Amino acid sequence: GLSEKLNATFKRLRGKGRLTENDVREGMREVRLALLEADVSYKVVKEFVATVTERAVGSDVLDSLTPAQQVIKIVNEELTNLMGGANAKLSLASSGPTVVMMVGLQGAGKTTTTAKLAGLMRRQLGRRPLLAACDVYRPAAIEQLKVVGSQLDLPVFEQGQGDPVEIAQAALRHARDHGNDLVFLDTAGRLHVDEALMDELKRMKSAVHPHEILLVVDAMTGQDAVNAASSFDEALGIDGVVLTKLDGDARGGAALSIRAVTGKPIKFVGTGEKLEMIEPFHPDRMASRILGMGDMLSFIEKAEAAFDQKQAAKLEEKLRKNRFTLQDYYDQLQQIRGMGDLSQLAGMMPGQLGRQLQGASIDEKQMAHTEAIILSMTPLERENPQILNASRKRRIAAGCGLEVVDVNRLLKQFDAMQQIVKQFSKGRAAGGRMHGFG
Ligand code: GDP
Ligand code: MG
Repeated sequence: GLSEKLNATFKRLRGKGRLTENDVREGMREVRLALLEADVSYKVVKEFVATVTERAVGSDVLDSLTPAQQVIKIVNEELTNLMGGANAKLSLASSGPTVVMMVGLQGAGKTTTTAKLAGLMRRQLGRRPLLAACDVYRPAAIEQLKVVGSQLDLPVFEQGQGDPVEIAQAALRHARDHGNDLVFLDTAGRLHVDEALMDELKRMKSAVHPHEILLVVDAMTGQDAVNAASSFDEALGIDGVVLTKLDGDARGGAALSIRAVTGKPIKFVGTGEKLEMIEPFHPDRMASRILGMGDMLSFIEKAEAAFDQKQAAKLEEKLRKNRFTLQDYYDQLQQIRGMGDLSQLAGMMPGQLGRQLQGASIDEKQMAHTEAIILSMTPLERENPQILNASRKRRIAAGCGLEVVDVNRLLKQFDAMQQIVKQFSKGRAAGGRMHGFG
């Protein structure tokens, strides 16, 4: 899939350490292919790749401490921008019931999403939603809305197979009379966009003045979902999109193209058949999901913050003067702890440093012990571990409620850490940057 392809590309870039402009262009060719294969529209891909390349071949990226990671960060940022940047919310009426018209092709997930969204609004905002059955062409459609409504204990308004526009108006009156502050109109769909359907939806729109027209599209249909979004937007004017079936084998193209092609934001995503399976859409999270790296980007940021250039220079200086002490070790551990899961972090770093850190496999509990031991030392001991004889070790162990073997283990770790830092400083001295960390 898309994530795997992008990951393979980024892994190759990370493996290189230093990057040339050519490396970046080669990487971007792969990104371009991966996006096209994921059914992202051609024009969107072209512009995306151009923007990323322009930003990534600059000297501030190529000469940075972690060029590959800078490139990944740029890709992530541009993917986020592509999908609209910030999380777009449902606009709610300042007074009286908010009316939300749910539209879309047949089978896209309108009826399911109507119930899901009403449930979400009640859970999160304490709203009192009413569902209105405006898909009158199939008796089963009304029944289906009643079923999902009753599953969530949400009221459903229906008038059988009357005129959908009149039903929508009656539902609105019903909502006013019964204190419902949010009305969802579950409308009919067709297999394809057609004029009769659009006429009916337009009539409904001008009769009830919805605050939101939400288009429901099936993520699995890729480019067709994007085309549907364009057609509905041109004919009716939509305010946002709900992308359903994101749990399926969606190729990701719809999520990436819809905003760029229609200018309308994705507001929610459906992630399963169950009625709780709906989430507000967060472009940044989706970008990370597409990049298949979960929280890796925040790791990168934390790693950059922790291992910034100034700090690296300071450590190097200390090492040269043989002044890397247990106090420095303690400070390093504090920073590593702030980054979260160390083994995951180490996994991101190719080369020697990553392997060594992974080998060190310092877990949370062990780190807490280490910190306790160091804190139990005198400042003199922290600066001069060589003075730690048996009696000092016993005193330190007693002071933090641990054993002498724990103190010895820490001293070994400290030794290993010194090796790592030495390695890292050699890399810098040789290449002017952190080899094995880019
Ligand atoms: P409508 O014709 O647009 O009203 O679509 P429905 O609400 O009847 O949904 C069509 C099918 O898609 C149903 O079987 C739903 O259970 C299913 N469906 C809707 N949303 C999702 C989703 O987010 N994930 C999955 N896996 N299935 C969904
Ligand atoms: Mg339906």
